[in-house]
Amino acid sequence: MIVIKSSREIELMKEAGKVLIECFARLSSFIRPGVTTLDIANLVDETMAEMGAENAEKGYGGFPGSACVSVNDVLVHGIPSAKKVLRDGDIVSVDLVSRLNGYHADACRTFPVGIVKQEHLRLISVTEECFEIAYRMAKPGIHLGDICHAIGEHARKNGYSVPREYTGHGIGREMHEDPYIPNYGTPGTGPLLEKGMTLAIEPMVMEGKNALRVLADGWTAIARDHRYSAHYENTVAITETGAEILTR
Ligand code: MG
Repeated sequence: MIVIKSSREIELMKEAGKVLIECFARLSSFIRPGVTTLDIANLVDETMAEMGAENAEKGYGGFPGSACVSVNDVLVHGIPSAKKVLRDGDIVSVDLVSRLNGYHADACRTFPVGIVKQEHLRLISVTEECFEIAYRMAKPGIHLGDICHAIGEHARKNGYSVPREYTGHGIGREMHEDPYIPNYGTPGTGPLLEKGMTLAIEPMVMEGKNALRVLADGWTAIARDHRYSAHYENTVAITETGAEILTR
């Protein structure tokens, strides 16, 4: 069941979104060669605490960290570690969920570390474009499948693939609500969007094939061919005429 939110609830989610905006602003000047993925998670923890928010990823489903920090060929759910030192040329995605006044916001950015190869900058840009295309399409009366299809097609046209195992999702009082929002789909299928739906739209784009392996830690999802991937996500609310981004 897709939970429709009141404008009051959407305002509360926007407050949770502001916490993520601040986290990403601090991270963009903090991330550089020599920083560890644990340093990133610690900065997130401090920022959320300072802003009076809960870090909803911490311990979620047993996740052993306080942020998903995924480097290069890791697609999602990278576990922060003091041993994982970022190097020049890496790309790192930081996926965060805050909870404030009982409501969640979920967003992800992929940051270049130092001087990054042109091909990897292009991967990051195309991933962001996939989101923009979906966001611009989103409005009452269109099918969810229309958006999912557009994301997958933009990735495919650029020579990339998208994973099947991980998807976007509805969000609100719960971190994960209905509907699932895959990064591929069939136009004209799935639920019709309605005003008051709140959705975490999150293109994950892979340079190579979309075959994944989960490491023995039970979380880290890594490309089998070890080519790089990027991830970009915002929480959006469907409005009367379109959609509003709550995390940017
Ligand atoms: Mg997320």
